[in-house]
Parts: sequence; C-alpha cells; structure tokens
Amino acid sequence: MSETKSKEVPLMEKITSLCKRRGYIYQSSEIYGGIGGFWDYGPLGAELKRNLRDAWWCAMTRDREDVLGLDATIIMHPAIWKASGHVDTFADMMRECTLTNKRVRADHVDPQSGTVMQYSGAESPTGWKLTRTFSALLRQGEHIESFRKRVRGLLALNAGEAAGAVEAIVLSGEEKGATVENSVDFHPETSGLLNEARPFNLMLSTLVGPTATEENRAYLRPETAQAIFAQFKNVFDSSRIKVPFGICQIGKAFRNEVTPKNFTFRSREFEQMELEFFIAPDEAIQLIHGSVATWSETADLSTPQPNWGWEMWHRYWVDQRTKFYATIGLGTDVLDYYWQQPADLAHYARACVDILFKFPFGTEELEGIAARGDFDLTQHQKHSGKSLEIFDEELRTAAAKLSDAEKQAFTDNVISAWEADWTSKGKSGDEARAAALTFCEKLLKGTYLPHVIEPSAGLDRLALAIISNGFVEEEKADVNGKKELRTFLRLHPKIAPVKCGVFPLLKNRPELVTKAREVNALLKKHFNCFYDESGAIGRRYARQDEVGTPYGVTIDFETLGEKGPELADTVTVRERDSGAQERVKIDALVAYLTGRLA
Ligand code: ATP
Repeated sequence: MSETKSKEVPLMEKITSLCKRRGYIYQSSEIYGGIGGFWDYGPLGAELKRNLRDAWWCAMTRDREDVLGLDATIIMHPAIWKASGHVDTFADMMRECTLTNKRVRADHVDPQSGTVMQYSGAESPTGWKLTRTFSALLRQGEHIESFRKRVRGLLALNAGEAAGAVEAIVLSGEEKGATVENSVDFHPETSGLLNEARPFNLMLSTLVGPTATEENRAYLRPETAQAIFAQFKNVFDSSRIKVPFGICQIGKAFRNEVTPKNFTFRSREFEQMELEFFIAPDEAIQLIHGSVATWSETADLSTPQPNWGWEMWHRYWVDQRTKFYATIGLGTDVLDYYWQQPADLAHYARACVDILFKFPFGTEELEGIAARGDFDLTQHQKHSGKSLEIFDEELRTAAAKLSDAEKQAFTDNVISAWEADWTSKGKSGDEARAAALTFCEKLLKGTYLPHVIEPSAGLDRLALAIISNGFVEEEKADVNGKKELRTFLRLHPKIAPVKCGVFPLLKNRPELVTKAREVNALLKKHFNCFYDESGAIGRRYARQDEVGTPYGVTIDFETLGEKGPELADTVTVRERDSGAQERVKIDALVAYLTGRLA
C-alpha cells in the first residue's frame, strides 16, 4: 500500500473539487457567476467550522481561568478605526495597468522580460477612440501579431460594446521601446505598463442610518481585535479579574483584498479568532518582584509565573497555540514559524511571530502572535478621552515600600532606557524623557495601561489547513489485485464534521433497517451521525471516508443474532484510516466512540 500526498498545485484543484462535490465549501452566489473573495460553507463545512470554533473557544477561555469572552458588533463607531490607525494606514500599495486600468498589489508583480511597445492611442470604425498613450510588454517569445491581437482584445474588453469587433480596432503610433529583463513594471496578466504605486485602503464601508451622507460612513471591521480594546474597561470593571488576563473573540472580519486568491486563503469576508492578553508593563513587574523573568532556550513555559515579563508571555502564547494546533491534528511537522525581523515590525510592536502552515500552494501564515506593547489602549485612550488605565493594589503597596531615593533611581533607570529605545527608533529623546516621567509617576501610585500579547488566527485559513492536511490519496489493491485509488480526509476525530456513519448492511431487510435506525437514534444523542442505507456497503464506507468521518457502524446479520447468540446486539465498527473493524456491543458503543472521538 503506497500513500501519495503530492503538494503540487493540482492537489489544490482536487481539494477545491472535493469541497464543492461533498458540501464543504461553495463559491458564494455561484448561480450568478460568483463574487470574488467570498465563500459559503456547505453542510459539512459549517460543521467543521463550528467544531474548530468550539475547540478554539474552549482552549482559549472555557478551559482557562484567566481569559473571558466577548461578542461585539461588526460595525462600530468609525472613530475606532481612526484611533487604531486603520483609516490612515490599513492599505496595500497598488499599481494600475495603463492598458486596462486593472490593479495589482505592488508586491504581487512577478518579473517579466521582453520589449516595451508604445502606442499613442487606438480607434475603431464604430467611432470609439482612445486618446491616451499606453505601453505594454511584448513578452520574450511572444509573436508580434499575437501580441497586437492580445492588446486589441484587452482594449475591446475594457471598452465594451463601444469598441465593436476586436479585429476592427486600430492601434496608433506603434513604437518599439527598450528591451527589459526581469522587470516588475508590467501587469502580470495583461503585460500593460504599471503606473506608480499608490495606497489603497482595504476597509469596506457602508452608510449607517437613513441619510446617506459621508458623516454616516461606517466600516465593516477589518479585524475583531479593536472591539476588545474598546470594551477593555467594561470587561475589566464587570468581571472581578486582575491583570494578567485576556479577552477573546470570534467573529467576522472584512477586507477589500486586492487579489483574493488560493481558494479561501485570502477572502474578502472571513472569520477571525483573536485574543488580547493584557499584562503589566515590565517596569511594574520589576517594582513588585524585584526582577523580570526573561526568555531563554531552557525557560519553562508550562505554567505562567508572576514575575514573567512580556517576552515570557509572548513565548508562552506561541507555545500554547502550537499545543492547540497539535490537539486538532496539526503537528509541528506541518507548521513553521517566521519570527519577524526588527525591520518588518510595526513601530509599536516588540516582537511578532507568524505561525505558518504548509499549504499546497506554499508555506503561509495561519496565525500571527504579536507583542503590541500598550499601543492600542494608548490610542483609544487618546482618541476617546476616556481613561483606560487600571489600578493595581499590589503594585501600589510594592512602590510604597521604596524610599524616595529608590523611587528616584527607579525613575532614572526607566527614563534612560526609554530614551535609548526611542532615539534608536528615530524618535525624540525629549519626548521619551517626558513620557517616561509621567509613566513612572503613575506607576509608583499603582496605575498603568496594560500591555498586550495578541494571538490572532483566521478560522477560514484554519479550515483550509485542516482539509489540505487531511487530504490523502492512497493506492490500494483490491481482492483481485486491481489497483484502486482511495481518497479520504484524515481529520482529527475531535473536529470531523460527522463523527459516525450508521449503516444497515442491506436496505431490503426490514429487521436490519429497524435496528440501524435504533442505533442511529442512540448515537445521535451524543454525536453528529450520518445514516445511510443506499448502495453497496463498500461505497457507503468510501463516501464517509472522503468527507473524513472517523467511524462507521454497520448493523449486520450478526447483530440480529443470526450467526449465533454470542454476537447478537453487537455491531461492526470500522475505523476510517486503517479500515480496521471491530465488533462492539450496542450497549458499549457510546462509551467506545466517546473514548476515541476526543
Ligand atoms: P496576510 O499577511 O496573509 O494578509 P495579515 O498579516 O494581514 O495576513 P492579520 O491582520 O495578522 O493578517 O490577521 C490575523 C489572521 O487573520 C491571519 O493570520 C489570517 O489567519 C487571518 N486573515 C487575515 N486576512 C485574511 C483574509 N483576507 N482571508 C482569510 N483570513 C485572513
């Protein structure tokens, strides 16, 4: 038996096709030709997502004492997005094709070589005329006549009916320009010359209320995290919780992605699962505990300690998230980590690691875990004018024990550390000193703005990772030695959409069907089951294997006691991956499956 699990691009086509055929994922609005970057989850996809959501929710909040949940609205006060920086900076750099006006992300342009062909315009006998100049690349190896035809076709497509027949379009003032090698100045699809890169904001917006004026402009959230910051104080005040603690949320987010691609990987509507874990600034830990535990290769991350600084907490969450992925079948063999370099980091971030998954189309981000300092709460405090600081009695008590000289020494240390840090980032040393002084004055009274560690994952990307990871094609010889290709989804039982298939061996034997219905009713109270009586039993197994159902229960003649009383009321339980079968008593079935589905 040989297992093939090739990761080349056609694999993605097989996965996409399985998803549609078996009810995992469909293109949104497909009957109208679809809408780019939007996907619907069918019956099995909906179950898979629900299971993943539940697994994340339990791991992040229910199973912990230090994380609370939130469910905020998609549309929030637009000032939130100004404060967070999304209005001004949540943009991709875009370039526009001078031939077709098609846009492309500046960092998504593949190098091309060829000869630049310039034109002063184009016209057609219908009266349609293009009076602007444009250029396009005659690609290396492309015949000039097919190039001209391609350019005319693109112009006609852009102009619509006005241009008339493609053949009738005349290109004016053709001139041969420079020969270029590996240039990134031409549109990857059209080969039209690209103009300068300009920022393109990724937020989708709408108008709220009956008066459709710009003052009513609101945004569909591009991430769920900002609601957590905006509600931080409410959650803190209403929950009798102390720092360190977290607030997590699962919900829809929207981004007007320029080039949605790779199936659901980059969508315009998607779901995020985010945690903001609030911690005390390292300076507060220093005051309370006398030192701050920082990370080293041998550090024990299993249990949080009171003297942990941001670095330990960041490492802890990377570890926790890695452990979470292992519980749903994504081990470190299929994950990778990208530690952002200082130059990649946002100005406020101290560290950021991307957890990557080896997708069939490449190793790409599944989740980002960032240490964001107090940037977000500072911004919201500033823009809302409401204090988001918290008071920490333990900190106040610790600070009160210091002599004036010790307080001064502490403050001086903080000031010089901040000054060095800010000036290394090109910021003003004077401002650093002033900010550090205010910070220390508050800290010594027990008050501060918490810092945050943010593990932020995408549910749709996770569902895609789970399906791609589970997809197996296996060549197997049947009883006559004939090779057959078996496709199955090796999903972890915990997140498989259907846990158990229930099959009467034969549909035309009422005793078998009645018993199978009884078994189905029994199991359905505990697990999501699928009852199937049509077709040969082998076909029914294969159908469930293909959607990742971990167990099949068959009610056969043994169950009815026809092969001896000792086998009466037992069923055949078949395991998906190995195909191994076992006889289990109906009374023991729930316990048998429960033990194996966790
Ligand atoms: P990318 O670099 O891939 O665009 P990002 O760094 O912008 O992602 P974040 O803003 O950190 O992503 O969002 C956190 C998580 O949300 C990502 O790790 C990903 O799982 C998910 N996510 C972000 N954008 C999309 C999208 N367009 N479609 C599906 N999931 C997304």
